[in-house]
Amino acid sequence: KSAQDTRTAAPKRPEAAPAFDFATLPEVKQLKMQRAAADMIGVANPFFRAHDATAGACTEIDGRSFDNFASYNYLGLSGHREVIAAANAATQRYGTSVSASRVVAGERPIHRELEAALARLHGVEDAMTYVSGHATNVSTIGHLLGPDDLILTDVLIHNSIAEGARLAGAKRLNFPHGDLDALERQLASNRHMHTHVLIAVEGLYSMDGDFPDLKRLVALKNRYNAWLLVDEAHSLGVLGAHGHGIAEEFGIDPKSVEIWMGTLSKTLASCGGYIAGSSALCDYLKATAPGFVYSVGMAPPLAAAALASAGILEREPDRVARLKSNGHHFLKAAAEAGLDTGPSAGYSVIPVIVGDSIQAAMLANALLEDGINALPIIFPAVAENAARLRFFITCDHTAEQIERAVACTAHRLAQIRAGGSGLKALMD
Ligand code: PMP
Repeated sequence: KSAQDTRTAAPKRPEAAPAFDFATLPEVKQLKMQRAAADMIGVANPFFRAHDATAGACTEIDGRSFDNFASYNYLGLSGHREVIAAANAATQRYGTSVSASRVVAGERPIHRELEAALARLHGVEDAMTYVSGHATNVSTIGHLLGPDDLILTDVLIHNSIAEGARLAGAKRLNFPHGDLDALERQLASNRHMHTHVLIAVEGLYSMDGDFPDLKRLVALKNRYNAWLLVDEAHSLGVLGAHGHGIAEEFGIDPKSVEIWMGTLSKTLASCGGYIAGSSALCDYLKATAPGFVYSVGMAPPLAAAALASAGILEREPDRVARLKSNGHHFLKAAAEAGLDTGPSAGYSVIPVIVGDSIQAAMLANALLEDGINALPIIFPAVAENAARLRFFITCDHTAEQIERAVACTAHRLAQIRAGGSGLKALMD
């Protein structure tokens, strides 16, 4: 018998109604139109470009090398030999996944070692980790606060905190960026109506690159009996002489802040997030926060990479000093070249405000031609007149890379503005 004869006929599938076509959703149609408009005016999509290397001060895209100002690898630890070796050793010992929530069968010694190291870095009693930085804010805020509570956030606060507030069902008020007078007015007129009040700020803002007055924030939250959450995603490894973050920068006792939040995906060269604070807070979250209890424990290589990175950060404060010196160098050169860097303090994040979404995308594409990778942030992520390129600085950038990036940005931006194209021109 031939092979064909022995084949059994496939069972006949019942006639199914076609699945819903998401292309018919108005939101999906709008996205398609935006892309078509960008194609029409010849602006290549700067997003989702695949990097073929460990992205740090340099990277590789489509076989070409670039000076890279688009990665949060602030201290050059992603790709560090010791970090890779630690991740490899943990994989050999524990496998690539712990395959269960830590509450049941997912706990490994390396989880507690990492949490102890994070608590030490922040100078607080304990820490607990989640598998994502975004999920850390969503699950912690969504779980700790409820409909009787109030959440006060800087208007530039990260999406994960906004999503956490939404999940909590608490009342949320934004105060203008960095405006602690406005925050105080909100506290004075709303505090008495709520059970708990949470003030949420970033240790260093990922959009503007500046940082809040922590001293005044601590005084305010004490006066109004509120909790303070500081998201150190962009300030751990950056602020303070040893990179311990904004508390070290201000010389403030970290135990006076209720909730320290951080991500493992930036300075610590891994993936995941954490809360650091009192033992009572961490114990409670580990026993009850849905994003912890009902999610898998952190993958062993990721826990090991973050732990090794924390060790290097402690041993080599010189990396923090180099990052700061690079940031300040970039900021000074940008000011001399007449670029608008907004309120950036010149550390890990430096925006160059362009003020037009299309011109910002054109600038990013022109810089790619010069071998420089920096990404635009455009409307609706920021107001149209605040459309920008963001430069992320690392300790491994050279003075020459920084000076060339600033010079090319100034030159290309002047060319683009002189050319007169952009969103404003299209609308006229
Ligand atoms: N908080 C801030 C301020 C962030 O910028 C980010 C991500 N860029 C997160 C939280 C989420 O962290 P992750 O990307 O590690 O999930």
